[in-house]
Amino acid sequence: MTINKEQGQAGLYVHIPFCLKKCGYCGFLSFGGCSEETQRQYVQALVRELEFHKGENAAIDTIYIGGGTPSLLPADCVEAILDAARENFKVTEDPEISLEVNPKTLTESKLKIYHRAGVNRLSLGAQSMDDGLLVFMGRAHDQADFQESWRMVREQGFSNVNVDLMFGVPGQSQDLWEDSLKQVLELRPEHVSFYSLQLEEGTPFYRQYKAGEMDLPSTEEDRRMYHQGIHMLKKAGYDHYEISNCARPGFASRHNSKYWNFEEYFAVGLGAHSFRYDQGRQRNVSHLETYIQRIRQGLLPVDERAFQQESLRDHMGEYVFTALRKSEGLDTADFEKVFGTSFFSVYKEQMTAVSTYQEQGLLYVNGGRIALTEKGIDCSNEIMAEFV
Ligand code: SF4
Repeated sequence: MTINKEQGQAGLYVHIPFCLKKCGYCGFLSFGGCSEETQRQYVQALVRELEFHKGENAAIDTIYIGGGTPSLLPADCVEAILDAARENFKVTEDPEISLEVNPKTLTESKLKIYHRAGVNRLSLGAQSMDDGLLVFMGRAHDQADFQESWRMVREQGFSNVNVDLMFGVPGQSQDLWEDSLKQVLELRPEHVSFYSLQLEEGTPFYRQYKAGEMDLPSTEEDRRMYHQGIHMLKKAGYDHYEISNCARPGFASRHNSKYWNFEEYFAVGLGAHSFRYDQGRQRNVSHLETYIQRIRQGLLPVDERAFQQESLRDHMGEYVFTALRKSEGLDTADFEKVFGTSFFSVYKEQMTAVSTYQEQGLLYVNGGRIALTEKGIDCSNEIMAEFV
């Protein structure tokens, strides 16, 4: 495999697979109701996994602790993880250090410890401002918990905060969606992520839907909510920089941008995925006891069965797929630099489709850049599938 991208600064993702309880729609690798003892054993294993990386050459300029619900952990565990990251990786002087937090689990003392540990960006899982919808979704928090968390977060000096919202939820009207977004925008978070509810196999929502016990909003309703959301966010001064993400100027997520910019990232923790130019994509085992046991035995917890040899063409497809998620789209000059070959020669068979999408107003091609239009985002799966 030849990827000519300069080895710059990499990201580090840390997975925390614990939640207060499972939300009805959640397909993430996380478990509700684990004891503090289990959480501490897991963090010990995580710290040891970080030690396996001692001596890595790449510098780390973003750390993202996600889950699950990282704020469920005793706060000293977050501190221990970040200390271990700094001891074993070359962390740059001004890293972005993000932590996902759930409103039900935050306290002022936890926030003080996060600050001390170097966390400088929080991601608050609000999902909705409507209590009825939050109950329906199986969320552990209510709107009052979110407001109280918001107050504490600002009071403790966090000035780079994302709020996660969901739309396309059964029972959510256009008005309810707009009202949630409006309430969030009044708080002026630096970043807003907004996702359409996806039915993940194996979840209670999926089973209910399959059993005919749940109606989803129509595609038209879902798309109306999405576009109205973008309209409101843009009007409030946010830059719509990625399909599901908007930020105030200067606050785009540096860590998540690595995924969309085909940059390297390490990943530690249960089921965590990493991407290195020389090693490709690797995934850790996703069985909790196996993960802890492997590490105690001094073994890397990589899931060998999940390893797939990826060809250069696979990587090109991933590059295109992720680049098209960005509003700035794909830079064909960068593609050529990275892969040593012209985008237009690799994808010459797709150029007819590209022209058609352009005529339909779904794609625009400008100065060596190819990007989805806002209308094109609604057909993004179909368009991206041309390249993979
Ligand atoms: S809090 Fe997040 S990770 Fe945990 S169950 Fe709910 S959606 Fe899943």
